[in-house]
Amino acid sequence: MTPAIFSAALLARRWLTETSIELRLERPKGFDFRPGQYIRLYHEVLERDYSLASGPDDPELRLVVRVFPQGRVSTFLSTVADGTQLSFHGPMGYFVFQASDRTPVFIATGTGVAPFVAMSRAGLKGYICLHGAKDHQGLLYRQDLEKNASRYVPCLTESATPDKSVFAGRVTAYLERLDTGRAYDFHLCGHQDMIHDAFGIIDDRFAESHIHSEVFY
Ligand SMILES: Cc1cc2nc3c(=O)[nH]c(=O)nc-3n(C[C@H](O)[C@H](O)[C@H](O)COP(=O)(O)OP(=O)(O)OC[C@H]3O[C@@H](n4cnc5c(N)ncnc54)[C@H](O)[C@@H]3O)c2cc1C
Repeated sequence: MTPAIFSAALLARRWLTETSIELRLERPKGFDFRPGQYIRLYHEVLERDYSLASGPDDPELRLVVRVFPQGRVSTFLSTVADGTQLSFHGPMGYFVFQASDRTPVFIATGTGVAPFVAMSRAGLKGYICLHGAKDHQGLLYRQDLEKNASRYVPCLTESATPDKSVFAGRVTAYLERLDTGRAYDFHLCGHQDMIHDAFGIIDDRFAESHIHSEVFY
């Protein structure tokens, strides 16, 4: 079935870090989605995809967007006035959670947390979450992800002070240490370099496991 076109007012925007924003949009009547899906947003002749970071029963839609200095749509979204109507197509995508007897592992960096926040807000529990960022401030929606995780591992590459509650290094360095004694369903979302590196490690170390991925940039 072709996804429908919707229009929704921007309700509010806030900066989460120096380079990422959260957008709250009104939820159009009849717009339903599964956690992990995305919308295709239109701006002039451009179209860009953004994963929904809200739960399927939340009254508003939420997006989390990395703002690139030369990025045409992300910079537009970082300055557009509240109340502006935004057009989008959706829902789209197949990065949705499918239960199995393997342990789910979510690996997210940057705004790649969005689909996992939607899954957690939908009530999914018991996953291992490797959450990568430069520093504590970059751990977007940490509480949403940590709340329903069986194990939550913040992986920081530029943590200023020694901190026993975090893993000092990239998510892929933690993946090198993850126990190989069981099969996992890996779900990867974020930058293509992280996903490329993670695929290599998973292929080498976790032969019995499955991989699902969504590349953002
Ligand atoms: C399925 C899917 C879901 C997505 N979900 C999200 C999401 O939830 N949140 C989100 O933030 N993004 C998401 N993206 C990425 C998003 O669709 C855009 O690609 C992104 O916002 C950049 O668009 P732009 O118009 O701002 O940049 P563009 O105008 O397309 O890029 C112009 C310039 O921006 C800069 N730039 C763009 N990408 C990079 C980069 N990786 N590194 C350095 N500079 C760069 C470069 O200078 C580039 O020349 C998703 C992508 C896909 C395919």
